[in-house]
Amino acid sequence: MGEDGSTAGVRATGGCECGGVRYRVEGALRDVVHCHCEPCRRITGHHMASTAASVDDVHFESDVTLGWYQRTPGTRYGFCTTCGSTLFWSAADKADMLSIAAGTIDQPSGLLAVLAIYADEASDFHRLDSTIQTFGRDWPVDNMSWSSPGGEA
Ligand SMILES: [Zn+2]
Repeated sequence: MGEDGSTAGVRATGGCECGGVRYRVEGALRDVVHCHCEPCRRITGHHMASTAASVDDVHFESDVTLGWYQRTPGTRYGFCTTCGSTLFWSAADKADMLSIAAGTIDQPSGLLAVLAIYADEASDFHRLDSTIQTFGRDWPVDNMSWSSPGGEA
């Protein structure tokens, strides 16, 4: 955990493959949403499996290699400019939340995949998980526990 030995309030730590980006989350993490939209599919090489946190709860221990791909005026993806790891997604209209690529969280994450969205854009090789709720573009945006997943705004 933290090099100062203090782990109070830390829900999770994580980072990219090379360590250029390291973060900790001091607050709640949302369960994992699989976003199969085409941009997430291409950027991740499969799909975006993202948790999310209040942006105020995410603290960077290192962000020297953090880059942002501004995909649309309102949405952007965070990645490591050295190792290429997909790290974050955020939307301007939900700027208080930061989606975090769940695979970048140090294990065990204690998270559960609960939802798949944009399933109609999933790769043809992917086997959708019949044990979690699955939606196409009409996913329930009003459910706060599912707010701010990766994907198009
Ligand atoms: Zn890296």
